[in-house]
Amino acid sequence: MRELAATYASGLPGLDTHSLLAGLDATLRFLPMGDRDGAYDPEHRVVLINSRVRPERQRFTLAHEISHALLLGDDDLLSDLHDAYEGERLEQVIETLCNVGAAALLMPDALIDEVMARHGPSGQALAELARRADVSASSALYALAERTTAPVLYAVCAVSRLDTEDEEASPGKGLTVRASSGAPGVKYSLRPGTPIPDDHPVAVALATRLPLAQESYVPFRSGRRMPAYVDAFPERQRVLVSFALGQRSERAGEEAGE
Ligand SMILES: [Zn+2]
Repeated sequence: MRELAATYASGLPGLDTHSLLAGLDATLRFLPMGDRDGAYDPEHRVVLINSRVRPERQRFTLAHEISHALLLGDDDLLSDLHDAYEGERLEQVIETLCNVGAAALLMPDALIDEVMARHGPSGQALAELARRADVSASSALYALAERTTAPVLYAVCAVSRLDTEDEEASPGKGLTVRASSGAPGVKYSLRPGTPIPDDHPVAVALATRLPLAQESYVPFRSGRRMPAYVDAFPERQRVLVSFALGQRSERAGEEAGE
């Protein structure tokens, strides 16, 4: 799917919303679609996009629906999928694959490599990728995590209502994890809703609106604090974060090329 999407993307005049559809003999229609983000109608070759959702989400949906069209055009891949899966599981696998295709379409390897070369596996790289690909920070997070070789955990944190177990307590607002994903081989991630302590660099970066990078820790929900080098990049009401795991001396060794 990734190859299909990359090949398709390489033939496009650009990656803006109109150019995205240029490789496909299909028309684009925006209309209110309730809970659905979009659909592809192969018979009439029409991509339908819900007009009531945020533009960045519409863009990801367009790339997702294009991936459906690319998949339908690849008989080999399609028959392999039908051999391996059936029923609801087949539907799920196809939806996952089309998200993989959408990410590959909007965030080509060359773009991720460029962002990584400039910023390293950092919170700022996450912000830069989301901005340049014009995708949500969460979409950028998964794509960047997948392409990171160092033991790094990424997170998007934002202020939201705290879910408290004590029903008597008034629900306050607090900085929590929205999405998190680690590089391949990193077996930890932060569950959505995990609160960020007020004195953690991520909270300080949001309060001061200044990027912050320092030795600190991963604030797991259980209260466990795993040592990490934290790079926190504040942007509007959220903070894009990378946690470089492992001991300080090990990282210094890696940087020295040992
Ligand atoms: Zn789909």
